[in-house]
Amino acid sequence: MAYRVTLIPGDGTGPEITEATRRVVAATGVPIEWEVQEAGIPALEQTGELLPEATLESIRRNKVALKGPLTTPIGTGFRSINVALRQIFSLYACLRPCKWYPGVRSRYEQVNLVVVRENLEDLYAGIEFEQGTPECLELINQIERLGGKRIREDSGISIKPISVYNTSRIVRFAFDYARRYGRKKVTTVTKSNIMKFTDGLFLQVSREVAKEYPDVQFDEVLVDALGMQLVQRPENFDVLVLPNLYGDIMSDMCAGLVGGLGVAPGANYGDELAIFEAVHGSAPRYAGQNKVNPTAVMLSAVLMLRHLGEVDAADRMERAIAEVIREGKKVTYDMKPHRDDPTAVGTSQMADAIIEKLQEMKAGVA
Ligand code: NAD
Repeated sequence: MAYRVTLIPGDGTGPEITEATRRVVAATGVPIEWEVQEAGIPALEQTGELLPEATLESIRRNKVALKGPLTTPIGTGFRSINVALRQIFSLYACLRPCKWYPGVRSRYEQVNLVVVRENLEDLYAGIEFEQGTPECLELINQIERLGGKRIREDSGISIKPISVYNTSRIVRFAFDYARRYGRKKVTTVTKSNIMKFTDGLFLQVSREVAKEYPDVQFDEVLVDALGMQLVQRPENFDVLVLPNLYGDIMSDMCAGLVGGLGVAPGANYGDELAIFEAVHGSAPRYAGQNKVNPTAVMLSAVLMLRHLGEVDAADRMERAIAEVIREGKKVTYDMKPHRDDPTAVGTSQMADAIIEKLQEMKAGVA
């Protein structure tokens, strides 16, 4: 029986790269019935809503979605539709594997680490008070009354909540992932020496959870030290688990270590459902040009196949992508030594080359 998966093509370059990905997934032989749904600007144009109920209902029903990037509309109530989706479905864990593939031009080789980012709390919880508003002034007074310092009245305030509940489930997620995929070490990342009641709590809960996993090494590092150590010796890290803001910053940095946004996949998991998407945005400058690199969305689809239990198909698809990258011929402009290389191929032609590899594997040639 076919799996039913919600497919959100997104906008900008999203429709091209998700279509290329859909064709490659089909070539693995895994039967998937895609339910195409809109979100973001295309949805706003069609239905008057950025996140139509039909889209949410489809994700709720299918429990698995592959999503193209969505441009964040300026001047609407939404900070970001991506953040809204994570909050609506309680997708508490953001997974971003950062693996170097031979053929990708990067300053580093042999990097193979996984960033596990808490997705719902911290400074991204969206609890903010605008400078000069009565609410903000009341909060400033209240904080002083409660024994805190007097905050300057011309300040804006963002709240940083970190809970035992959400920390334990994200750290558990990181350890479970390490166990399932044979990873050796989980490193928890905080600034616990300064923010004792939030990052300090994250660290304390991490230490407690780590005791339940004696078979996996546990390590702790301060986020500023991590920045330096990642630049010096990224191969020393395995699984990193971080609160939301540090996770956001460090996962982009780790993507940079393995060749940039064009090759960085991602997934957002809740207890019940999961949404798979590239780390990069909609690259609107290149929309409709059949130009950008589809690898990040394709590798996100590899994560999706693993999530569906289609491990063999996932492995084959990853190998086919890696082989095309290693050969370096039928790849997009960003993977060539020079960006104006005339031998670069388009998004759709790179997908064709990967499909060809999958067919060769099936025929026993590769
Ligand atoms: P971006 O990721 O779209 O682009 C950043 C740079 O990377 C650009 O130079 C772009 O050309 C390049 N790039 C991105 N994807 C590429 C690919 N597949 N192949 C080759 N090059 C690629 O970031 P941005 O310009 O800051 O954001 C554009 C829009 O996307 C914004 O509205 C932003 O809010 C949104 N966004 C969405 C998501 C998401 O949907 N998950 C994530 C990030 C940004």
